[in-house]
Amino acid sequence: MPPRNTNSVVVSSGDKCAIFDPWGRAKDWERVLIERGLKLHAIYATHAHPDHISAAPELCHAFNVPFYVSPNDRPLVGWGNEILDFFGIGHIHAHDVNTTDITPGNYEILPGIKMDVMATPGHTPGGLIYYFPDAHILLTGDTLFHDGYGRFDFPGGNAQQLFQAIQNIKNLNLPDDTFVVHGHGMDSTIGWLRKNHELFK
Ligand SMILES: [Zn+2]
Repeated sequence: MPPRNTNSVVVSSGDKCAIFDPWGRAKDWERVLIERGLKLHAIYATHAHPDHISAAPELCHAFNVPFYVSPNDRPLVGWGNEILDFFGIGHIHAHDVNTTDITPGNYEILPGIKMDVMATPGHTPGGLIYYFPDAHILLTGDTLFHDGYGRFDFPGGNAQQLFQAIQNIKNLNLPDDTFVVHGHGMDSTIGWLRKNHELFK
């Protein structure tokens, strides 16, 4: 079974942009950037699984930009390459990939674009969520899906941590209109999750 398509996100300010979870091939991303007239400034991963970072190694070489990953997920870079075979995408080789550590905190990632980073281990040890407080947008990676949550049986996964992380997201009390982009599957809103998600009610 192939995974449901990964949701990659481009955040831009003027002609500067950052890509979150660059799934797919670097060549296709380069075309997207040219078409949209955007200059790539950074890449961020919600976690280091191959279906979230497949284009990152080539992109960060091509554009000489940092590739931000939690230090706790650094050991996972290059794990699970088999899934890329299914899509005919080249393997990720850990020794070719320079990551830059990112840890929980508040950042201004592009001019006028504030971002809060929170640790949500459980799906992977270094899982992160990204929240944009001005736009009310949350990227949950594979910690939380609109109809479930990520697996905790991969290396470094931990069910107790995952459920705690989801509880912590709930406890952020983000506004109902917060637009939520999940690592896979349909988008949702915090209000929708409050009504419909078994762990969010
Ligand atoms: Zn994953």
